[in-house]
Amino acid sequence: MTENEKSGMFDLFRLIAAILVISIHTSPLETINPYADIFLTRIIARTAVPFFFMVTGFYTNFEQPKKALLKLTKMYLAVTLLYLPFSIYSGYFSGFSLGKALKMLIFDGYYYHLWYFPACITGILLVHFLEKLSAKKAFVIAIILYIIGIFGDSYYGITIVPLKIFYNILFGIFSYTRNGLFFAPIFLLMGSKLKKANMKFDSKKVAVAVEIFFVIMTAEAFLLKGFNIPRHDSMYVFLVPTMLFLFAFLSSIKIPQKPILRKISMWIYIIHPLIIIVLRGISKIFSENFFEKRELLLFVLTTIFSGFFSIFAVIVTRKSRNLHNALHCPTARAWAEIDVNALRKNVEYLRSISPKNSELMPAVKANAYGHGAVLISRELNKMGVKAFCVASADEGAELRKHGIRGEILILGYTHPAQFPLLRFFRLSQTIVSYEYAKLINRYGKIHCHIGIDTGMRRLGIRSDEEGKIQRIFEMPNLYIDGIFTHLSADETTLPSDKSFTERQAESFFNIAESLAENGYYPKVHLLSSFGLLNYAHLGGDYIRAGIALYGCVVNANLLPVMSLKTRVTSVRNVYKGETIGYGLTSEAYEDMRVAALAIGYADGLPRALSDGKCHVLISGKRAPIVGKICMDQTIVDVTNIEVREGDIAVIIGNSGDEMITANEIAARADTIPNEILSRISSRVVICAK
Ligand SMILES: *Cc1c(COP(=O)(O)O)cnc(C)c1O
Repeated sequence: MTENEKSGMFDLFRLIAAILVISIHTSPLETINPYADIFLTRIIARTAVPFFFMVTGFYTNFEQPKKALLKLTKMYLAVTLLYLPFSIYSGYFSGFSLGKALKMLIFDGYYYHLWYFPACITGILLVHFLEKLSAKKAFVIAIILYIIGIFGDSYYGITIVPLKIFYNILFGIFSYTRNGLFFAPIFLLMGSKLKKANMKFDSKKVAVAVEIFFVIMTAEAFLLKGFNIPRHDSMYVFLVPTMLFLFAFLSSIKIPQKPILRKISMWIYIIHPLIIIVLRGISKIFSENFFEKRELLLFVLTTIFSGFFSIFAVIVTRKSRNLHNALHCPTARAWAEIDVNALRKNVEYLRSISPKNSELMPAVKANAYGHGAVLISRELNKMGVKAFCVASADEGAELRKHGIRGEILILGYTHPAQFPLLRFFRLSQTIVSYEYAKLINRYGKIHCHIGIDTGMRRLGIRSDEEGKIQRIFEMPNLYIDGIFTHLSADETTLPSDKSFTERQAESFFNIAESLAENGYYPKVHLLSSFGLLNYAHLGGDYIRAGIALYGCVVNANLLPVMSLKTRVTSVRNVYKGETIGYGLTSEAYEDMRVAALAIGYADGLPRALSDGKCHVLISGKRAPIVGKICMDQTIVDVTNIEVREGDIAVIIGNSGDEMITANEIAARADTIPNEILSRISSRVVICAK
């Protein structure tokens, strides 16, 4: 069990907190004993919302809060819509002005409990920036904000007159200081830091601390009330240490997570005001003010009905979500996990070694070497990459359809029947020969890069045919944005490779020079991954990096971006002398255990790795492949590994201390990682980690 799996106390307390919030909104003990009611609703229950902030802080990734913010915003808008009829009825929309509308939407919420959502959103945004500072600075700022908040809340009565003016200006912007600016940040920050510190607490000691601070907070609250100081009563000085130790206490008790309670408590929070409205409505049948002096009954009924409704809501939404998850489950069979952070680090490293004034033009052909061209290009767009290369017009069109911005160069041949795609999707075409240039020129205006053959003998105009290159520049319909060549021996710096590479570069730059003499200044590019790693000094305007970007070259600064995983579908005994798999090629050397995996050569696992030529990782151990790899399945030897059906097997990636790289697989299959990766088939689901 991981630490996270044991934090079930958080889920349990969420439920308690939700019920405490109901008590705030029903004052159950009002008639029985007003002091008891104050104690329950203004003191005990004031731990509820800070607790919600703290667990939110605990589980939110403040470096990339986009997902959390999006989810909260969606929920906020949906709940606002749900309460719209009631907020209209209750006069929330009376005296409409844009200022008021913004104030309600950004701070107060359009019903009395809805302020929580914008507070959470604002708070997360603030803490996102605070987390960039040192912990000390972050806490100082959060505490200062909280202190400002306190004097507009429980301590308002003792603020001196000039400050009151300041607060009255604030209260024009929002109705309370218990909001996302002054109230939420400190609790979100504490939750986030406690998660990072990963501290172990002695539950007895922290329980004592909770008691001590809670008693002091109680005294604080009653004193303030006694002197009639509060304007509102959400924020106390001693609420902060009380919450800190309460949270530490809850995290010190290890019980399994109860995600269902998380959902139920959220529903209770959302739905209970509606239940109160309905109950009050029905009670009118009996008498006008039925629940006056019957607050406890209102509280109990609200709790029961909110609970029932929430359980019902969880069951209904779970059914539809289960179906959605089943259809979109990335981890069902064989899947590739994309580590966007590794991609970012690789981009940063490649940029750091790139020649001055050059830009990355990543190769995202062949579905970004099996990594998912759209996913990868989107992330690269976010990292400021503004040029890509692909192999075909279809690949380019696919990227444009998914909103990829920047220049997209097709490195290969495009059939004239597909020329309309070039125009429509703003793709740049490589000119593969002189005849081809004439063909495009006859079609119409197209952006192009001229391929120059300096030694690869594959595509482009030979570098000794300068006249032809010149004439292509003179063709009226072609926009020649660049010229490029491809190095054929850049993988090493051995003397023979080095001199060949330098000769290629020389003939390429000679062309660029003579073009310049004639007034043509196209972009020039010649380096791909190994070119950049071994011959960065050759320069150029673009770096067409592929395999290095995906972290599959031997270089400590580059991290593998993809992990390829699958599941164990069946485990069984095989007895000495029995054969395993097609063709009877493998025989049990002793009594063995073998496992079937849900991946085969149709997924891209080379069949050449059959009969023990490669391993997979299960539970941090190497399991050799036995028998022939099948189209959809593979059998591995797990005699010495503890394995259960449903376990994950890693084909490429880490497991425990073990790692299998695409390079290792490539070496064993007598090829290069580029081939292994690009042949991962479309049946393998790609998901971002
Ligand atoms: C594929 C390709 C690249 C990228 O090569 P890597 O070695 O993966 O960096 C660059 N240029 C051309 C012309 C290519 O075909």
